[in-house]
Amino acid sequence: MSVAARYARLVEEIAAELRACGREEESVTIVGVAKRQPLDRVREAIEAGLHDVAENRLQEAERAYPQLPPVRKHFIGRIQTNKAKGIAALFDLVQSVDRLDAGLALARAAAVAGRALPILIQVNVSGTERYGCPPEEAPTLAQRLRAESSLCVEGVMAMGPFDADRAAVAAAFETAAKTLARVGGNTLSIGMSNDWREAIRAGSTMVRIGTALFGERI
Ligand SMILES: *Cc1c(COP(=O)(O)O)cnc(C)c1O
Repeated sequence: MSVAARYARLVEEIAAELRACGREEESVTIVGVAKRQPLDRVREAIEAGLHDVAENRLQEAERAYPQLPPVRKHFIGRIQTNKAKGIAALFDLVQSVDRLDAGLALARAAAVAGRALPILIQVNVSGTERYGCPPEEAPTLAQRLRAESSLCVEGVMAMGPFDADRAAVAAAFETAAKTLARVGGNTLSIGMSNDWREAIRAGSTMVRIGTALFGERI
């Protein structure tokens, strides 16, 4: 199946899942995760209607985005503080802020760039994930970063547990949704290729889809 066909099918499947949960259509943004994907696949999805593209490495992103039509750019990788300047300059939404020093480094870089940078707090809701702020510490981290006028804390991002049963995935996403309620904001970025249905049932407003859209990574 072509990438364009996979994108069209995904849009339909997400709309159907939203209807099934009694949620409004188009209340979920699809973010295409372009890490380690050939750019022609990403271009094909954008031409088919994809508006949002995520990268997890600054260098790859700096190379990729200029070769693509204009999109909303998402950073979803580990934030190294020495890369904060480049990240704050390039991305429209930094989803992976999981600790104070990373948030403050972005705040300084965004202030120098003269912008208010939208960010999400990455929360660890699974035993299989290395990164992410513990859910109980997320409200304090968000409050501290909201004191920075060059940041705009818009919500929460989380990864579901890998190789877990569906009930464990759903429970992890419930924790993410509860954490958003305590952190504040409107964006709940949960759901990937293998668990976006559970994520939508838990209230996801943003799914991050790599392989189910673009195929296997290289
Ligand atoms: C790789 C990645 C994704 C996409 O994963 P797929 O299983 O290919 O959909 C989503 N979010 C983050 C943070 C990732 O690193």
